[in-house]
Amino acid sequence: MVATREPAVVDRTTTLETLLQTPAGKRMMTCIQCGTCGGTCPYGDTMDFSPRLVINMLRGGFMDEVIKSESLLQCVACYACMAKCPRGIRLTDVLLPLVKEQVLVTHTPMPAEFQKSLENMNRYGNPMGESPRKRAAWTATAGVKIPIMAELKREVDVLWFVECYTSFYARGQDNSRATARLFNALGVDFAILGNEEKCAGECGQLTWESGLFESLAEYNMKVFNKYKFRRLVTGDAHAYNAFHFRYPMFGLTQPAEHTTQFLARHLDRLKPMLKKPLDLTVTYHDACCLGRATGSYDEGRALLQAIPGVKLVEMVHNRVNSLCCGGGGGGMWLDTYYKQKGMDRLSDRRVKEAIATGADVLAVACPYEISRFEDALKVVPHTKPIVVRDVVELLAESLA
Ligand code: SF4
Ligand code: SF4
Repeated sequence: MVATREPAVVDRTTTLETLLQTPAGKRMMTCIQCGTCGGTCPYGDTMDFSPRLVINMLRGGFMDEVIKSESLLQCVACYACMAKCPRGIRLTDVLLPLVKEQVLVTHTPMPAEFQKSLENMNRYGNPMGESPRKRAAWTATAGVKIPIMAELKREVDVLWFVECYTSFYARGQDNSRATARLFNALGVDFAILGNEEKCAGECGQLTWESGLFESLAEYNMKVFNKYKFRRLVTGDAHAYNAFHFRYPMFGLTQPAEHTTQFLARHLDRLKPMLKKPLDLTVTYHDACCLGRATGSYDEGRALLQAIPGVKLVEMVHNRVNSLCCGGGGGGMWLDTYYKQKGMDRLSDRRVKEAIATGADVLAVACPYEISRFEDALKVVPHTKPIVVRDVVELLAESLA
């Protein structure tokens, strides 16, 4: 049901020059130029070089042309091209990041907001530039005790990796408080890293800064190795993606789970605790890093359907066909750049679909989506009220 993608087939030393000698690169040679990737790409119509053309240029030895173009600034790492490629070619997580890295080197300075976020990740360990000393400040408002690994000094079952938006961003902290209540209700033996945690770095990996990703991954692995825990759980779909597919290359041996996967595994015990009916029509947005990236489509839906009074309705595009929120691959910090190029925001497209369902709630399972969709709802006209809530927020509300 989850993590159906095969492990990475390139190692940390692979470059654009050596790619075609790797198993993933050899598979790229089998591309039949069907155009499915470009056709399914949400920005495929505005790119000078769609994924199909990038492959063709790579095979022909013309990558300089691709790198000179800003085309791949428009890739939001949504995994649509990779999920639908009939040849199983690793576009989103192998080819495109390697090309983007060269784009980054060639086109400096990059769009200012994007550049600043990367600098913040490097300097402060989070894209917002918040003080690392404030990372665990949200725990004071959690309403339940949040154990910190450095203070606990014993093995725990679950190391909960809170991540950046859910630590620092006020609306994101609602996710953390809800998760804490759910873990507490289930009696989960957990702890967090507190101020020792830094961004998992997935955005560095898929936004063309492999050096930044590696330094963050190496730092986090050093911290992980100080402690004993049986599994790593995070509510951030991007961090989960990095932990599941990339961190094993840095020595991570414990299994990683997204919060929705962890809670769905405990649904037998959780469901009887969900006593407060919410009486809401809810539509669920499949996060790219959970759905297309790992095949995890059912867990979020199963959790929502366990809440008394919730009626689940689907948007036109769902599961593998879900529309991206536009926040991945650096898109989170490229809205101004896209607007200057006359491109529409993908989050606006997505909330139009949510509004069309008549739902009261657009439910999400990734911290980026809260801010992206709440912003989109401020500008996309709608008459019936609709709010954005994380799945864990709805579950915690039903616990009352
Ligand atoms: S979908 Fe796959 S096979 Fe088809 S053009 Fe794109 S990379 Fe090639
Ligand atoms: S990952 Fe998504 S945005 Fe990037 S090229 Fe593929 S389909 Fe387009």
